[in-house]
Amino acid sequence: IKQENVRNFSIIAHIDHGKSTLADRILEKTKALTDREMKEQFLDAMDLERERGITIKLNAVQLRYESQHTGEDYLFHLIDTPGHVDFTYEVSRSLAACDGVILVVDAAQGIEAQTLANLYLALDNDLEIIPVINKVDLPAADPEGVSKEIEDLLGVTSDEVLWASAKAGKGINEILEAIVHRVPAPEGNPDDPLKALIFDSLYDPYRGVIASISVKEGTVKVGQRIRMMQTGKEFEVNELGVFNPKPTAKDQLTVGDVGFLTASIKNVSDSRVGDTITSANKPAAEPLPGYKKLNPMVFCGLFPVDASNYNDLREALERLELNDSSLQYEAETSQALGFGFRCGFLGLLHMEIIQERIEREFGIQMITTAPSVIYEVESVDGEEFTVDNPSLMPDPQSIKEVREPFVNATIMVPNEYVGSVMEICQKKRGTFQDMEYLDDNRVNITYEIPLSEIVYDFFDQLKSQTKGYASFDYELEGYKASNLVKMDIWLNGDTIDALSFIVHRDFAFERGKAITHKLKDLIPRQQFEVPVQAAIGNKIVARSTIKAMRKNVLAKCYGGDITRKRKLLEKQKEGKKRMKMVGSVEVPQEAFMAVLEMD
Ligand code: GDP
Ligand code: MG
Repeated sequence: IKQENVRNFSIIAHIDHGKSTLADRILEKTKALTDREMKEQFLDAMDLERERGITIKLNAVQLRYESQHTGEDYLFHLIDTPGHVDFTYEVSRSLAACDGVILVVDAAQGIEAQTLANLYLALDNDLEIIPVINKVDLPAADPEGVSKEIEDLLGVTSDEVLWASAKAGKGINEILEAIVHRVPAPEGNPDDPLKALIFDSLYDPYRGVIASISVKEGTVKVGQRIRMMQTGKEFEVNELGVFNPKPTAKDQLTVGDVGFLTASIKNVSDSRVGDTITSANKPAAEPLPGYKKLNPMVFCGLFPVDASNYNDLREALERLELNDSSLQYEAETSQALGFGFRCGFLGLLHMEIIQERIEREFGIQMITTAPSVIYEVESVDGEEFTVDNPSLMPDPQSIKEVREPFVNATIMVPNEYVGSVMEICQKKRGTFQDMEYLDDNRVNITYEIPLSEIVYDFFDQLKSQTKGYASFDYELEGYKASNLVKMDIWLNGDTIDALSFIVHRDFAFERGKAITHKLKDLIPRQQFEVPVQAAIGNKIVARSTIKAMRKNVLAKCYGGDITRKRKLLEKQKEGKKRMKMVGSVEVPQEAFMAVLEMD
């Protein structure tokens, strides 16, 4: 198939607007899969993705399509993008592999925050945009209204906006024809020096890194020596291929092809997403634009419940890191929790996914500490350093200034919730930036907010205060000085390092009161009375007391029903699963997260 009949595109949408369902319909229509192979949501490979209904890893599928209008054969590459804000960079790289996008908007929900965030990424990459209103079959659908929103936003006419029901298979042919007629063919010359964009990479223990690539210039062949333009590392190509959708080997990939490459690359960091592959003998002068190293923004401690699982936990992290170069970890010792790891993540969702995978795939039970951001600290003697673990924040008198990361948060809500949203943002130390009416009913509000406040249950509050109507996105803005202090928690007179957190001085008293109160309820009664105190430096700001256990719970069963007794023991064991002896006090997992739900 000639280059002018190649179409590289992606589907972008706010979560749940029907991206995966539409991808399935496109695979069906192009007969990429037999019915038996066709299982729902083919592109969402991992179990976890299926369960959570989100797409983490990028995928590219090669499809053949015969146009009903032109009668010609076309080669499509459908590139899947992850939908969540934590993965913005990956979305952006996978879009750089395309020439056009299908922008899916739910006919009942209309445009939402991630619709916009994804749209801006597509515009940044200069892509042709095909707007599709999906779920027109829903009783609550308002395709005319949503079409109006889209027309205003994109400056298009109503006949450029397609209507579809991915679920019912309606409007799919029109979408396929729009891809043929509206998405441009890849430019680039197959005889020029090689430039292939790495837009995903995955580690396989036998073949090394499997890089997903989009060839923008030149041709790559099996056996050829290639060079990674950022790291300068060189390799020899072992395998090339495409997913159609089964992996299919090829001798070469040329301009317009999207597929995979292996070259005995043993280290994921040698094939970074966003890097450009070129030929070692005839290198290109410039890499493709937009290489960016990803830095973790959120950190937390992971500690095995059972100390003998420490090595298993390290192995699990090593394995996960191979496929996920944005995951960071280093050994950490906590006085309270023993040996564990301090881990860095791109965002909260990324953190949850990694935690869940460790528990599920490696069967390790963990205590996780509350997430924290990275602080920049300047000491009184002029030294500058960063702190990603609250317990390591120095004493207040030795600090000259603490700076924290701020984000630009975009929140989209129906009119009637504007008041509640502003109240939450205000409470979270936000500074109002802008408010824009998208139409009679929807408002786009932007605030500058410290990232640490977003980490502390911002999204949950937003959802509950707006009955789920708010949608939300953020991007890092930069560091600014704040009046921050470290709050320590003392249990029975001992500082529990894993419970320390950083708080704005104006909220310190209130938070100290709230957390001691909460811990009192979360930590079960012990044989003795346990004071719970919150302190800044040596100054106690709040206190409550866990009363001693009244009597042995089993005592009342003596002589009684044996099954009842066993049930009681069973129940206690259940509750104990996530307990950790901290000094002389038994502390449950929830206690380490208590600081997240303080308001
Ligand atoms: P994604 O998060 O954008 O990938 O969305 P999914 O494809 O997973 O779809 C989210 C939900 O919407 C699923 O329950 C789908 O069955 C449903 N859905 C998708 N397309 C349609 C449609 O055209 N009509 C209706 N009624 N439901 C749909
Ligand atoms: Mg999906």
